[in-house]
Amino acid sequence: MPEDTPFQQKIDLKNLTRDDLIVFAVNHDLPAFRAKQIFSWLYRPGISSFAQMTDLPKELRESLAKEATFSRLSPAVKELSSDGTIKYGFRLQDGKMIESVLIPEEDRNTLCISSQVGCAMACAFCLTGTMGFTRNLTCAEIVDQVCAVSDDLRENNLGMVNNLVFMGMGEPLANFDNLIKALTILLDELGLHFSERRITVSTCGLAPKIIELGQRLKVNLAVSLHAADNATRNRLMPINRRYPLETLLDACREFSLPKRKRITFEYVLLKGINDSDQDAVKLARLLHGIPAKINLLPCNEAPELPFAKPSQQRIDSFQNILKMRDYTVLVRASRGADISAACGQLAAKSST
Ligand code: SAH
Repeated sequence: MPEDTPFQQKIDLKNLTRDDLIVFAVNHDLPAFRAKQIFSWLYRPGISSFAQMTDLPKELRESLAKEATFSRLSPAVKELSSDGTIKYGFRLQDGKMIESVLIPEEDRNTLCISSQVGCAMACAFCLTGTMGFTRNLTCAEIVDQVCAVSDDLRENNLGMVNNLVFMGMGEPLANFDNLIKALTILLDELGLHFSERRITVSTCGLAPKIIELGQRLKVNLAVSLHAADNATRNRLMPINRRYPLETLLDACREFSLPKRKRITFEYVLLKGINDSDQDAVKLARLLHGIPAKINLLPCNEAPELPFAKPSQQRIDSFQNILKMRDYTVLVRASRGADISAACGQLAAKSST
């Protein structure tokens, strides 16, 4: 790479997996073990400059600083919900905002991260969907959300992030290449070293990408289903016109799951739309034969959205029908609603 070209952007090493970094090293006449050393420094807490990478020769640290960089994110906004949920707002280099949500539970800290600025999927019940799509996040921007929140927890003695869900803003499978890179770094033992059992990718149903994800990496899959027939799903989720239920569920059957794991199906309960007993029976039939866990999400209401949450009685009845048919069904308690951090509420207003 030519030195001192003022307009050339420095390469962000956090956009490189360990294998990419080996290629980078070889291209720069460095031995491969240097790539391993550099890679592991990038994800250690408190590292913000090449100068701190003390096991690299000084000249190498200096030449790296000339042509490369590694990004960090620090929260521009941090809001604490009365239930302990923390919403982090991050300002990206181009000024766009994204959000991540930390959900502390008794036995673990779950971090919900974003994969895009906005979302192109336009699901009718989701606020992020109403803001439209701005751009994909880079691999570094995905991983940096985890680094930044981990740093914040460490500084405040709040433990560590031990469960990751791609359920923030955006459709992760529509940003596939960066998602795969980010997952590779999150799983790498010299990277963030997450267990594949502690990462869940959630999708509105990009069927071919579901199959590809299973072929590339072993992580958990959540599918935002929300309807048990195509007519209702077409109304709620435009993606269903491209990949109708039959195609989506075939892809789920083909998805290779980690051992003893099941696919999570998310189902937003919308009053009078998809919450009848008949809908529950249809859902049970639809998922027959698929290793499934069902999460019911009573609709988080918003003034902008023409949907309401069903009564508790309706929710119980829907859940019982599925339970009687031997499904594991949880009604997911809404968290962080007072700070607009609950499902479908992430819509950083200043992001566009
Ligand atoms: N695009 C991916 C990742 C986003 S996950 C996906 O669709 O799975 C966000 C979750 O919140 C999805 O399951 C979504 O359907 C759900 N959600 C969106 N709006 C909601 C609302 N108003 N109430 C409850 N859940 C909602």
